[in-house]
Amino acid sequence: MRFSMILSLVAVGAGAGLAPAADVRREIQFPDLPNARTLKCDLHMHTVFSDGLVWPTVRVKEAWRQGLDAIAITDHIEYLPHKTDMNIKFNRSYELAEDAAKLMNILLVRGVEITRDTPPGHFNAIFLKDNALLDTKDFYEVFDRAARQQAFITWNHPGWQGLERGKWGEAQTRLFERKQLHAIEICNGDEFYAEAFPWAVERNLAVLGCSDEHEPFRDEIVTPENHRTLTLVFARERTLDGLREAMFAGQTAAWWKNQLFGRDQELAPLFAASVEVSPVRKRTADSLWVEIKNRCEIDIRLECDGKDKPRLIVLPARATSLVVFPAPATGDPEPLNCRVTNFLVGPNRPLNVRLEIPRS
Ligand SMILES: [Zn+2]
Ligand SMILES: [Zn+2]
Repeated sequence: MRFSMILSLVAVGAGAGLAPAADVRREIQFPDLPNARTLKCDLHMHTVFSDGLVWPTVRVKEAWRQGLDAIAITDHIEYLPHKTDMNIKFNRSYELAEDAAKLMNILLVRGVEITRDTPPGHFNAIFLKDNALLDTKDFYEVFDRAARQQAFITWNHPGWQGLERGKWGEAQTRLFERKQLHAIEICNGDEFYAEAFPWAVERNLAVLGCSDEHEPFRDEIVTPENHRTLTLVFARERTLDGLREAMFAGQTAAWWKNQLFGRDQELAPLFAASVEVSPVRKRTADSLWVEIKNRCEIDIRLECDGKDKPRLIVLPARATSLVVFPAPATGDPEPLNCRVTNFLVGPNRPLNVRLEIPRS
C-alpha cells in the first residue's frame, strides 16, 4: 500500500511539475580569457526586409535559444525582392528587433549589407547610426558615409562566386588604404575561404565567421562539426561598446566546423583557459597517466613532440580524457611541446602550446 502511494506521487510529479520549460537557451561553452569576455556573435543575417524569410524578432529569439551574446541583422540595401509586398525602410528590421533584444539580453548591432556585383562584391557595415544614409549609387561614397558613422566594415564571403572573381582587388586595396575595411568574413555558413585567410593575417584585419542565414534556423543537434558558424569576440565587457572596441582591435576568431581561425594573442589564452591538465594520476616504469579537461566546444586536436614521431591526441569537447604519456619512472615530468592543429593562427599555421604537468 505504502509502496504504491509513493509510485503514484512520482507519477503526478512527472506529469505536472517536471514539464520542460517552454523556451530553453543552450549555452555555448568557450571560457572567458583572464582579461576579456568571450562573446559568441553572428554579425551577418537577413530578414524579410531584404531577401530573408523570417521576421526580425525571430532572429533575436533564435540567437537567445542558441546561446549567442550578439547579433547584427544586415539586410541588403540594393537587393529587395519583397519590395512590392512590403514597405521597406532600411532601419526597420533593427527597430522591430530592439525590444526583443532588450528582453532577451542579446546585444543587437545596427547594420546593412552593401551589395554590388563581384568584383568588388558584398560588404557589411555595422554599428551604424542610420542605415538609410547608405542608400546611394556611388560605390566609394557609400563607404565614406559609413565611415562618417564610425562603422565597422567587413568584406563578405570573398569566394562566393569563385576564386577568380572573389580575389583581393583594386576596390579592397583602396578601401583598406582609406581605413574603410576592417575585417574579412573568411567563413560564411558552410563555406571557408582558405585563400582569404592570409589576406586578413597580412594586413591585421579581423577575421569573421557568420551564418549569413536567410531561412529560419532549424534546432539541430549541435556537435563540434555541426553548429552555427560564429565569430568569437574577446571584449573587455559584454556591452555594445565593449564589442565594438574589441572588433576594431581585431580581437576576434572565426569558429567554423571543428576549427578556430584567429591570432596567437587571443587563441593562446583561449587554449589555456579551455584546457586543464591534472597532476599525475598513475606512474609506471615508462609511462604516466594524467586527466586533461577540455572546457570548449571543439574536439581539440594536438600533435605533440614525441621521442621518434609526433603523437596525436584528441581531447573531446566539454569532456575529460585520461591520457598516457611515455615518461621515466622518476623525476618531474617534462612539459610537452604541441601544435593545436585545429586552432589556426595563419594559413596552415597551428597554435604552438606547452602542456605543463603540475606536481602532485
Ligand atoms: Zn552577400
Ligand atoms: Zn548576406
